Amino acid sequence: MASCQASPRLNASKPDNAMKSTSFPQNPYYSRTDTTRLDLPDEVWKKVLSSDLYAVARHGETERAFTGKYWNYEGIGTYYCAACGNALFRSDAKFASTCGWPSFFETVRPGSVTYREDTSYGMIRTEVLCGRCDAHLGHLFDDGPPPTGKRFCMNSISLDFEPDRK
Ligand SMILES: [Zn+2]
Repeated sequence: MASCQASPRLNASKPDNAMKSTSFPQNPYYSRTDTTRLDLPDEVWKKVLSSDLYAVARHGETERAFTGKYWNYEGIGTYYCAACGNALFRSDAKFASTCGWPSFFETVRPGSVTYREDTSYGMIRTEVLCGRCDAHLGHLFDDGPPPTGKRFCMNSISLDFEPDRK
């Protein structure tokens, strides 16, 4: 009779569906596999993005040079849009730039980003936007290295880096 001890019951009310979206639980639109274009109103983005990312991604702000986390980062992997998870750049297209922002000479695929003329601050520049969610990423310049001669000058905060699995 001494062996029959009741084992503690498992908590049956524990939710079983919390397996996904661990890193971005507050942004339901973030996906690294779904490439469906997102066309969301500003109020929605304001709710699901951090205030710093919201200011850059939705209002074209620029982080200060040399302050972002990726400008001199050399990890091997893929950079995704921080707002929606769209794949943007591979680390092998990144080059050491002295400008203080992460810089790439090409995107991971042609439709990764879209372009728009930006005439703010009395300059004519090419603005680079996410091809999936239209988040502002940075600007494109023609002073990059071979083979493209392009420099995608990005805001670190607009990027999410995922290292390659070995
Ligand atoms: Zn995006």
